[in-house]
Amino acid sequence: MKLEEILKERFGYSNFRSGQKEVISSLLAGKNTLAMLPTGTGKSLCYQLPGYMLEGQVLIVSPLLSLMQDQVDQLKVNGEKSVIAINSFLSFDEKLTAMKQLSRFKFIFISPEMMLTEQVLARLKSLKIALFVIDEAHCISQWGHDFRPDYLKLGYVRKQLQNPLTIALTATATSEVRGDIIRTLSIQESEQIIYSVNRPNITMAVEHFHHYREKRDRLIQLVTKLEGPGIIYFSSKKMAEQMAADLRLQGIGNVMPYHGGLEQETRMLIQQQFLHGQLDLICATSAFGMGINKENIRYVIHFHMPMQFESYVQEIGRAGRDGQPSIAFMLYTSGDETLQHQLIEGELPDEPQITLLENWLQEHKTNPQNLAGLEEELSLICGFNEIQLRLTFDYLKNYSLGKNISSVCDEFKLYIKKRLESKRRKIEEMVRWISSEKCRRIQLLEYFEEMPKIQNSDCCDHCGFSITTFERTNFPLHKQRDNEEQSWKERLAEILLRKREEER
Ligand SMILES: [Zn+2]
Repeated sequence: MKLEEILKERFGYSNFRSGQKEVISSLLAGKNTLAMLPTGTGKSLCYQLPGYMLEGQVLIVSPLLSLMQDQVDQLKVNGEKSVIAINSFLSFDEKLTAMKQLSRFKFIFISPEMMLTEQVLARLKSLKIALFVIDEAHCISQWGHDFRPDYLKLGYVRKQLQNPLTIALTATATSEVRGDIIRTLSIQESEQIIYSVNRPNITMAVEHFHHYREKRDRLIQLVTKLEGPGIIYFSSKKMAEQMAADLRLQGIGNVMPYHGGLEQETRMLIQQQFLHGQLDLICATSAFGMGINKENIRYVIHFHMPMQFESYVQEIGRAGRDGQPSIAFMLYTSGDETLQHQLIEGELPDEPQITLLENWLQEHKTNPQNLAGLEEELSLICGFNEIQLRLTFDYLKNYSLGKNISSVCDEFKLYIKKRLESKRRKIEEMVRWISSEKCRRIQLLEYFEEMPKIQNSDCCDHCGFSITTFERTNFPLHKQRDNEEQSWKERLAEILLRKREEER
């Protein structure tokens, strides 16, 4: 059967999106493959379709629980029952049952930390893995924007599994990061299929302001004028909340905030309402978006700049997946980057904190490999916040084997210093792009080492575009539906029920 026929029969699509067929053919030819396809091209199809054609099981490593759940749901919607997700959400008993029945499943999603437990790895070794999938493979690289120390061990895992056919998928990776992926996974002979990060149907515009107030007024003007649905990105949870409340007060549409500080249930509800068109605007932090498969998002506005181009490309890439004209606005007040610098500093432990840690470890003759159970005590003593604590523990767990405490801590300080420098550089690069007078698109592509040969209509604010393309035609905006009496839970239940009915 031809690939197109399988595509139609299994997934109901008539055509492949760009890159998909090439990636699938490479895998079916037995080649390890690194694929970089822009956001919105349907990367999951690249392993799902060959999964059906290969004998054995498909093992998918995914960095985020929400992303994993989304892909599991997607397969189930397509009628695939033979799928399971193994992650920390499973109870002890559920995990035990899952392990026993593992050979029954075609698609096995797993978080990297689960994979590294000996019991799970031993079980995986007994399976016939037809395809090993590394989703969001840029997480392997320390110099990527989303490094996960656990991802470094995937090379070891791959070896343990007898080097199965492997695909590394990512949407954004510089050549340095791609080199790291290939080295770590030991897939030197792999096929590299690299597509441009360019999304021609998304216009890019930057606007400068002197004062916060001006910027806020412009934001309100934009969301009133632009055709939705849309997403506004903020770097602060508080700000996302406040702006959503402000916009509602102004009578602007069905808008809700979304950030990591909300309860899981609330986040799920907001996401579902947005997907189903009951909300037309989300005031979000970067926590929103991964795994959001909404085709018709018409605009993305950055009220705060992102920390690097990789995030920018991913965030604006949520717009226009249906191929229709969409727009990305960046609103910038000089000095906005201070907030970004503060944020990265807050994520990394500083030298005095590491010295405090070192003294404590020396004093208590504690093996840095073995800090489990000391989280609370060390947070208090060294003043770590949650992110700093996780990073520190991850680092020590992964890099301290066979070293003495003081050399580990010295290396850790150096690592933090380099990481801070790299992150600062990325922020400065964004600021340069914001202030530059050259075509936004060309510069963005140059960052990803592409040789842009582009002729884009409605390209960017420097090349010129017509705002009317993006303005709404139906006025006035609908008012917030007033069903306060219905509780969150009832509304969530209703939406999930409808979703289930649709799936049937
Ligand atoms: Zn341009």
